[in-house]
Amino acid sequence: MSERYAVIGHPVAHSKSPWIHAEFARATGQDIEYGRIEAPLDGLRRAIEEFREAGGRGLNVTLPFKQEAFRYCREPSERARVAQAVNTLTFREAVFGDNTDGIGLVRDLAQNLHFDLRSCRALLMGAGGAAQGVVGALREAGVAQLVIANRTAEKAQALAARFPGARGCGYDGLGGESFGLIINATSAGLLEAAPPLPASAFGRAALAYDMVYGRDTPFLVAARAAGARACDGLGMLVEQAAESFFVWRGVRPQTAPILRKLRGG
Ligand code: NAP
Repeated sequence: MSERYAVIGHPVAHSKSPWIHAEFARATGQDIEYGRIEAPLDGLRRAIEEFREAGGRGLNVTLPFKQEAFRYCREPSERARVAQAVNTLTFREAVFGDNTDGIGLVRDLAQNLHFDLRSCRALLMGAGGAAQGVVGALREAGVAQLVIANRTAEKAQALAARFPGARGCGYDGLGGESFGLIINATSAGLLEAAPPLPASAFGRAALAYDMVYGRDTPFLVAARAAGARACDGLGMLVEQAAESFFVWRGVRPQTAPILRKLRGG
């Protein structure tokens, strides 16, 4: 019988994860089933336990449950502990929690987009589950200076305080600074909005990256107008999925063919 996995979130109807994991399974010869579970906002724990009791082997956790999943898991990996957010649960004797968002973003930037992160000066916008998941990996990849800006400045300050050398502020605290890499880890693009960022923030040859995918967000439009290279988060989605697949199955699927198919190539 196929081993069962799923993505759990609220909402999840739009999620491309079932399709991506089915493609990975086909390409690697792994016998898995991968579904989607929409949990009520106050019902994450019960939904996880029902899935586990029915024989489920692992879950991807998405918005808005990543921090709650971190508190739920018994054995967080080092990268989940650093992020204090979990996007990958594995059920064995205990519940293991991992976070593959950071490595997914870094692989997309470094391997797919050929962006040199070493010594780069970066701005990360947002301080929610997605932003929390990537700060550790960005630092590990060699980002030299990291500023975290958020609508609620205190959250950016609290996140930055966990990483030596990082600085947190509101958008009005950015002054006239410019950056080589600007990552939008806010959900503003889903509402056709953009964080209030001055055009001067885009340095020469800057890369502007929106974690939202499948649409030309106002942030990406503004970035292009300011002369920056603009990329959506589809590559991160595929790379974080590949890392979760590896955590569960011990097999690393190729990502380039899936990304090409998703981009309609
Ligand atoms: P979250 O925990 O709900 O956090 C949302 C963040 O967006 C907060 O920092 C919030 O600021 C900010 N925000 C919301 N509306 C805003 C607006 N109009 N202007 C400025 N800031 C705004 O969500 P999340 O889990 O971090 O996810 C964020 C986004 O990343 C989602 O769209 C998600 O789909 C995407 N994502 C993509 C991938 C991928 O693989 N491509 C992976 C993970 C997440 P406040 O704190 O002030 O409320």
